[in-house]
Amino acid sequence: MIVCKFGGTSVQDADALNRFLQIISARRDRHPIVVSSAMGKTTNHLLEAAQTAAAGKKQAALDLLTRIKEKHFKEAQKLGVAVGDDWVSETINAYFKEIRDLVKGLSALGELTPRIMDAMASYGERLSTVILTQLLENQGLPAQLMDARECIITDDSYTRANPLFDLTEAAILEHFGPVLQSGKIPVFQGFIGRTRDGITTTIGRGGSDLSAAILGAALGAEDIQIWTDVDGIMTTDPRMVPEARRIKTISFDEAAELAYFGAKVLHPATIIPAVHKGIPVHVLNSYKPDQEGTLITDQGQPCENPVKAIAYKSGITVVNVASTRMLMAYGFLKRIFEIFEHFKVPVDVVATSEVSVSLTVDETSKLWDIVTELKKIGEVNVEGSKSIVCCVGENLRNVQGVLHIAFIALQDIRIQMISQGASAVNITFVIDDERLPEAVRALHDAFFKIIDKRVFE
Ligand code: ADP
Ligand code: ASP
Ligand code: MG
Repeated sequence: MIVCKFGGTSVQDADALNRFLQIISARRDRHPIVVSSAMGKTTNHLLEAAQTAAAGKKQAALDLLTRIKEKHFKEAQKLGVAVGDDWVSETINAYFKEIRDLVKGLSALGELTPRIMDAMASYGERLSTVILTQLLENQGLPAQLMDARECIITDDSYTRANPLFDLTEAAILEHFGPVLQSGKIPVFQGFIGRTRDGITTTIGRGGSDLSAAILGAALGAEDIQIWTDVDGIMTTDPRMVPEARRIKTISFDEAAELAYFGAKVLHPATIIPAVHKGIPVHVLNSYKPDQEGTLITDQGQPCENPVKAIAYKSGITVVNVASTRMLMAYGFLKRIFEIFEHFKVPVDVVATSEVSVSLTVDETSKLWDIVTELKKIGEVNVEGSKSIVCCVGENLRNVQGVLHIAFIALQDIRIQMISQGASAVNITFVIDDERLPEAVRALHDAFFKIIDKRVFE
């Protein structure tokens, strides 16, 4: 059995849906389980409607909902789905009635909570999977629509809820058992779940990858396939550097590092469930289903290139804490990190000197609370509009002169922080946002002048 996850672009319109059908038909013998994102940009549009309503623009929000609804009907109808008084039309209409009620409530209340954001966003995946289920049926592929909220049980950290793995695994086994026995193709919503009390949650933007990995791990799938809009995991974001090459195989560690430092192609936590069960993950291009994509496995492959790929995250904030008083004192770092822990804000990159610590954060909603606390420890200054650029490769630790290559590539760019752990598979630089495209291109040119054909295409 295999898990096939389709991202937003891979189900965005009738053409994409046709490709989806071909991909599943061709894999019928491998007992696919379908996991789908919302169609195209639906999640963004639903959240935008919610924000618009909460800002008091009720009519604009309702108009946006009408457009989202029409788009779903239009694309489904091109393929003969939702063309009459069938269950698909009924379900879509019923969902939009609920969404409209939510939007009206928001405009009366004038406030949007994370919990309501999740309720809104959940409709994207619920809509797409209703359409996919009927499409498969029409194709002569018996399918069963599942409810991810009965299977993915999470805590109540709305908008980025954490799946509770034991409960989730038990629920998955319970709900999938009979369906798998029936031989039908299960169709499952990515991204959504619910709390133990039954409140709908989402597991973070891009979370459908994680849903697929959790399912694959719980059910002992033979392969987890992430179908997307690029050839696989590339040497860097092809939108930034069009010459980026496909990576044929990459290790779990490398892929996790890349995802964590911003390579949107994979949700950062996707790898974890797969690693636990040693299940291979493939990243594949839904526009070119016959290509081999990228294989992520527990074993790294020998590679001449020290760097496998370059990831980046922009809009980062650097927090510097300086304290001569605390110089060399133990417990200093602990106190700093406790503050970040208290506000549940993750720190990405850390660099220390004798008298100061620099940290980067992605999320700034709690920043001023954090700074207030940090000021009790030392002098604090904050700098926004920074970018993290991260070179990843298992081989970095073995090859000499890697930093030399990187520094030459970045010679005209001010580097604010550098970090490389002793056993780490990455070297990370923090630079100004405005120099980011130049930095990524320069590093890519420098590290992929010559390429190891065993690893890159
Ligand atoms: P999906 O909707 O299928 O989940 P995403 O938009 O989340 O797709 O992720 C795919 C996108 O990730 C690509 O279009 C590409 O621009 C971006 N990306 C960033 N870094 C990389 C990389 N190293 N390799 C491939 N794609 C990358
Ligand atoms: N639809 C969700 C999002 O846009 C989840 C996903 O696509 O993975 O973030
Ligand atoms: Mg994604």
